[in-house]
Amino acid sequence: MQTLVKLEQAQQILLDLVTSREEKLISLFEAAGQVLSQDIKANRDIPPFDRSPLDGYAMRAEDISQANSSNPVKLRVIERIAAGYVATKSVSPGTTIGVMTGAPIPAGADVVIKFEEIDLIEDHIMVNQSLKSNSNIIPRGEDVTKDEIIAPRGTLITPPILGLIASQGINQVPVFPKLKVAILSTGDELLEPDEEMHPGKIYNSNLYTLYAHCIELGIEPISLGIVVDNVSAIAKSIRYGLENADIVISTGGVSVGDYDLFFDAMEDIEAKTLFWKVDIKPGSAMLVATKDDKPIIGLSGNPASALITFELIVVPLLKKMLGLTNYLPPRTSATLVDGFGKASPLRRFLRGNLYHQDGSNYIKLTGSQTNGVLKSLIDCNVLIDVPAGSKSITAGEKVEAYIIDHKS
Ligand code: AMP
Ligand code: MG
Repeated sequence: MQTLVKLEQAQQILLDLVTSREEKLISLFEAAGQVLSQDIKANRDIPPFDRSPLDGYAMRAEDISQANSSNPVKLRVIERIAAGYVATKSVSPGTTIGVMTGAPIPAGADVVIKFEEIDLIEDHIMVNQSLKSNSNIIPRGEDVTKDEIIAPRGTLITPPILGLIASQGINQVPVFPKLKVAILSTGDELLEPDEEMHPGKIYNSNLYTLYAHCIELGIEPISLGIVVDNVSAIAKSIRYGLENADIVISTGGVSVGDYDLFFDAMEDIEAKTLFWKVDIKPGSAMLVATKDDKPIIGLSGNPASALITFELIVVPLLKKMLGLTNYLPPRTSATLVDGFGKASPLRRFLRGNLYHQDGSNYIKLTGSQTNGVLKSLIDCNVLIDVPAGSKSITAGEKVEAYIIDHKS
């Protein structure tokens, strides 16, 4: 087992655990938020025919090439078609066919003019303008062309992707199966929010933040609740988690004072420990093990430490397990608007809010940076990467950061 590993090493150790996953076919109604396990290739042009973008008349540009208000051209209406129907006649010189929005352009026609711009007199129309060929015609394949890759394997199925899949007449989507994550919180001091408060106790928050993160990532969380600081209780809960989920995430019991507890629980279940502690602040306390190829992650009990290591180290693992091809958090550089007074002997991550103003990137710190403070994660969309050995940072300095905003 390694101790005090670098952040990138910790990420890599976890990413290397991910082997290929099976696939399954699901209905479109189940597919939103899941990840494609195969490329989706267009099997047809969309739209499948040239169509009218408006309610009007389809005609030949040549017939109206000399038309203007003092010289209107008269055309005979030979048919009218709604969207969903095909004209039975062709537009020949001197004739026109009424077309509603979405209707296929009748053979022979190469322009459409809006109803409002035309005078209808019995079965004739008067046109007093000329238009270039192809005006007001949506060409076949405007949206998608046959054989185009609509979305590659490893893509999250977003609303427009789902719509595009449906527009192809595909009714089942190949996806990686849903990921299940079992979450437990260790600590004698913990109470669930519906329990009565007692002196010395605190309410469990980590379970809920991690639970919510899983939902946001499209993962099915399984709550294993609170587990007391006892080796066999922890071992039992983790064993249950391994039987019912693809990965187990626990908080608490991995800091120096507690180390033996979680470590002993790993021994109890005969898991292989891969590393303990990461060389960053906050969040250095972290233990990673595997049992039957399933990862077991022990995070610090301190809410901010737990979430920062979760974002930087566990989220990439989860995203890779989900089948996503973009799993590492992207980096950015920006100007730090406020200073940070403390030196950073260890590599430190600061909670900040990235925003854009006048074409530049700025980051504002989101509040207290101590490891027990959860509130400063509310507006946090970046973790500023302060290199080990840095002095204090003055306002206006350029900083590097990891973007942790899942929606961007
Ligand atoms: P530990 O990592 O178990 O040493 O806990 C570190 C700190 O985090 C202690 O102050 C704990 O009381 C607190 N803590 C542990 N677990 C949780 C939790 N689930 N929710 C909120 N705070 C916690
Ligand atoms: Mg504890």
